Amino acid sequence: MNSIIYQNLGMAETHKNYIDGLWQDAATGATFKDINPARNADVIGNFPESGVEDVDDAVRAARHAFKKWSRRPAPERGDILRRIGDLLTERKSELAFQMTREMGKPFFETKGDVQEAIDTAYYAGTETRRLFGRTVPSEMPNKFNMSLRRPIGVCGVITAWNFPVAVPTWKMFPALACGNTIVFKPSEMAPHSGALLVQIMADAGVPPGVLNLVQGSANAGRALVEHPDVNLVSFTGSTVTGSKIGETCGRMHKRLSLEMGGKNPMIVLADADLDLVIDGLVWGAFGTTGQRCTATSRLIVHEDVHDELVENLRQRAVALKLGYGNDDDTEMGPVINQAAMDKIQSYMDIAKDEGAEILTGGKPASGEGLDDGFFFEPTILTGVTPEMRVAKEEIFGPVLSVLSISSYEEAVQVANNIEFGLSSSLYTSDVTTAFKAMHDIEAGITYINGPTIGAEAHMPFGGVKGTGNGHREGGWEVFDFYSETKTVYVDYSGQLQKAQIDNVDD
Ligand code: NAD
Repeated sequence: MNSIIYQNLGMAETHKNYIDGLWQDAATGATFKDINPARNADVIGNFPESGVEDVDDAVRAARHAFKKWSRRPAPERGDILRRIGDLLTERKSELAFQMTREMGKPFFETKGDVQEAIDTAYYAGTETRRLFGRTVPSEMPNKFNMSLRRPIGVCGVITAWNFPVAVPTWKMFPALACGNTIVFKPSEMAPHSGALLVQIMADAGVPPGVLNLVQGSANAGRALVEHPDVNLVSFTGSTVTGSKIGETCGRMHKRLSLEMGGKNPMIVLADADLDLVIDGLVWGAFGTTGQRCTATSRLIVHEDVHDELVENLRQRAVALKLGYGNDDDTEMGPVINQAAMDKIQSYMDIAKDEGAEILTGGKPASGEGLDDGFFFEPTILTGVTPEMRVAKEEIFGPVLSVLSISSYEEAVQVANNIEFGLSSSLYTSDVTTAFKAMHDIEAGITYINGPTIGAEAHMPFGGVKGTGNGHREGGWEVFDFYSETKTVYVDYSGQLQKAQIDNVDD
């Protein structure tokens, strides 16, 4: 166990929403329970099961706060973001510990999750001094053309549980930088991490009403999306949920960013450095117990190196140390809940029915320290073909589907034969093939000689096809999503000038 001792086993704390600067219960008083997926007897707490009334209160507070916050000089908002970065740095271990306890990934991974939030805070803080517009020559004399940015209004932020600190900050920090206010609904599977993040942001000086937290499940999310005074929705979660949200936002003309599921391919060609591949593969497929939108879930490997690579991988997979992520030697944690266990198990039957082979794993893990949690063995499916469901559907667990190919062209075809398009990777020692792949693979992200995971906060992040709707998080592009372009013409000629008419000789 690492140095922070948590002694609250079995004693459930009751947590609250954060609306207009006050911590408060849901209007109905209803709560839901949050447990440790590695040690089910460890109840983290009870959280408000919010509904329409709570969302309405939060949106009203955010709307009221918008007036002042949006007019504050952007660099001043940046100062607060940098203070958030400082506090996250100070509380990194504490936050990571609680995150591991709540959603299961090992402590070294949750520290990375917090670090991503720290990087995002400093990056967004600095960008408040670079929220550029443009000046452009006018086609008329004595006229000045420019564009500038305006904030959008109240942002509804709805997130998944697997990056419970980093992903909300990808949305909230640029939203705040641009002058928007927020109602945040974290996943019902990671409410504690969401609440701790909000507390840090409040402690750093985010004013009351600028950031509001509404806990709860799909009902609360739906109320937020449907609220007429929410101008923008930023969602990370499954493609099924994202599609529903997309319908509502389309109907209500809301600005919307969707970051959804993945089925990410790693292509390994015959000229790849297999020692490099194996490390990337173990990390890509089994890091975060395979519960990353960017997890390597398909290995598309050249037939000449298939057997050697798969056997090496099998040896590494069976040697992985499963356990509670706050124990020092744990390499892979649990999956999030019983529903995830059931879903993963159901895909084992599907794989067998379709003719794939379970090379290793394929069942819940048992043994010392594993029987009171949702542990599933690292699983490798071989003999998978492109049309099988295990090659196409997101399983979201420690399951790797292996497909054998005989050429680069076939590998790309197999990689693209999918409804998703988030991340991808190619291992090769041939620079020509590497550059071709950057264009050929249909995905928002391509790694060359690295696994499908490893996003950096200052680079655009997002997917194509069923994964996204054309926006990017992270990097410089996200600031375009959280601001509206205003075009301004200043005519100082002292007379009426008619564009496209006065200056054209017919
Ligand atoms: P989910 O879709 O079940 O839930 C996500 C969030 O949406 C939760 O907060 C949930 O309460 C809320 N929600 C559910 N129904 C809703 C509705 N009808 N209206 C409004 N809100 C609603 O997803 P999950 O199981 O929490 O997360 C796993 C999924 O997230 C995977 O598919 C994974 O690939 C994806 N994910 C994507 C990214 C990315 O950046 N592309 C990152 C992390 C996770």
